[in-house]
Amino acid sequence: MKWDLSAFYQSMNDPQIEHELKLLETKITDYTKLIDNLNTHISSPSPIENILKKKIEISLMFDRLRNFGYLTVSTEAKNQNAKSLVDKVQKLATNTTKPQVKFQKWLLAQTNLNDLINKNNFLKTHEFYLFELIEDAKYLLTEDVEQTLSILSQTGSNAWTNLYGTLSSTQTVEIEQDGKTLNLPLPVVRNMAYELDQTTRKKAYEAELKSYQMVEESLSAAINSIKGEVIEVSKMRGFASPLDQSLYNSRLDKQALNTMLESITDSLPILRKYLLKKAQNLKHPGALPFYDLFAPQGELSLTFTYDQAKDFIIENFKSFSSELSDFAKHAFEHHWIDALPRDGKRGGGFCSSSKAIKESRILTNFTGVFSDIGTLAHELGHAYHSYCLNEETSLNSSYPMPIAETASIFCESIIKDAFFKKASKEEKLPLLASSLDDAIQCIVDIYSRYLFESNLFERRKASTLSVNELKDLMLDAQKQVYGEGLDHHTLHPYMWACKPHYYYASSNFYNFPYAFGLLFAKGLYSQFLIEGKPFVAKYKELLKITGKNKIVDITQSVGIDITTKTFWQNSLKLIEADVKNFCSL
Ligand SMILES: [Zn+2]
Repeated sequence: MKWDLSAFYQSMNDPQIEHELKLLETKITDYTKLIDNLNTHISSPSPIENILKKKIEISLMFDRLRNFGYLTVSTEAKNQNAKSLVDKVQKLATNTTKPQVKFQKWLLAQTNLNDLINKNNFLKTHEFYLFELIEDAKYLLTEDVEQTLSILSQTGSNAWTNLYGTLSSTQTVEIEQDGKTLNLPLPVVRNMAYELDQTTRKKAYEAELKSYQMVEESLSAAINSIKGEVIEVSKMRGFASPLDQSLYNSRLDKQALNTMLESITDSLPILRKYLLKKAQNLKHPGALPFYDLFAPQGELSLTFTYDQAKDFIIENFKSFSSELSDFAKHAFEHHWIDALPRDGKRGGGFCSSSKAIKESRILTNFTGVFSDIGTLAHELGHAYHSYCLNEETSLNSSYPMPIAETASIFCESIIKDAFFKKASKEEKLPLLASSLDDAIQCIVDIYSRYLFESNLFERRKASTLSVNELKDLMLDAQKQVYGEGLDHHTLHPYMWACKPHYYYASSNFYNFPYAFGLLFAKGLYSQFLIEGKPFVAKYKELLKITGKNKIVDITQSVGIDITTKTFWQNSLKLIEADVKNFCSL
């Protein structure tokens, strides 16, 4: 049950790898020359066509090498050859930055680009890509400044990001277990939030909060420095705010984001009812304490073998389309999936798709519990998304974060729905509870993180924030969104230290895309339930155009208007209905 990577290369010692690394270097030189040799103005579209085609060629070579290195490392953490391949590829990739910037600036200066595009079919199919390059160019600084920023970020934001990585991955938590004091890794202790025993959950939460005291000053320095740099650089680039920059990168309008957030705010009172009911079920006298947000409710003793999971998915994907079912079957049977946990293999799950071989590879750590089937379906959804993009070039295939989880959550919904229908009355409660717990994270907690980050940027403009100010800011955000649903004496003041998303200088507000993804996929799924089979082709077409359109146009293609509340309200109503259903069970 290991994946087969021979479609990339035969092995890490395959001489083809060295050969292609050298070839790639030559192709990057050719690409650079094509750009250097551009005349100030051109009247024929072919020089642009040649540059784009060269770029596609290069990206396919990168794709093959990078995927092989990365996928190998993810199951063989100690494979030095694979690691060095990843390094080599990364280093080569930086050689394309300078010519790319030059090309963008050149494009920006062309006054007849529309005419050139209209003369050439290949350019016509890359119109969105070309105009986005031009739009991006408006936010680029001079080549020298870009280079200086990139060099300085190595000792600035990137260095702080690395410090965060080091501190969080080595952070241990002192906790008592069976009369002994243990020092456990942070993720192990955070996972205790899912334990059946309430005392364990509470103890883990308290120990976790205490453990941040060791790193709080360093993490505060890191978050203050990263956000400070982001504020300055985004201002230099001409963005009105870091949020505007994130929205621009997400191809999303502010109006759509605000409409979604307003709809979420309207829904909060009902979502909090779930938390209060959960508190009641867990015998808390008042609101739910933070440490019981993930507490399991009812017992779900369903377990599956890998073959049963495979059959269940293939069978139930048919309810959407035979094509989706056949696709999953093909992925299972052609060894696209590395399914089981083993030594040296990373945790969690992911899907990595390759344009070079037009296939995906999926990593999971299947143990047979219910959520493992959800994960398999989720990752197969990502793979299906890439399959729908197979006929598009790499330049027309990269989609922004808010849309990235559409197909995955959609497939998860198919499987969860099928389960729920077949479940006995006793199984329904834990199934519903776990899906509501997920929704609370994706919507309510994410909203608190969005508010925190907005306020952090606002305050950071004036000065750095102390640890206590960061904690207060986080508590304020949690109080605002969780309201009466959570006990205000047991919140999580260190969520800014816990979540890595705040520490990536290149992707700020890495929170709203989660809420967007969940609500958009839920909305699409309910549309499928209403429309039935005629929706299948529309959905496939929607996935196909995700890499070459603004989000508002992608959603418009299936008749969804994300700038008005109706769509968001309908998605939220599905969750509200689950809350009502849960409260009545
Ligand atoms: Zn995903």
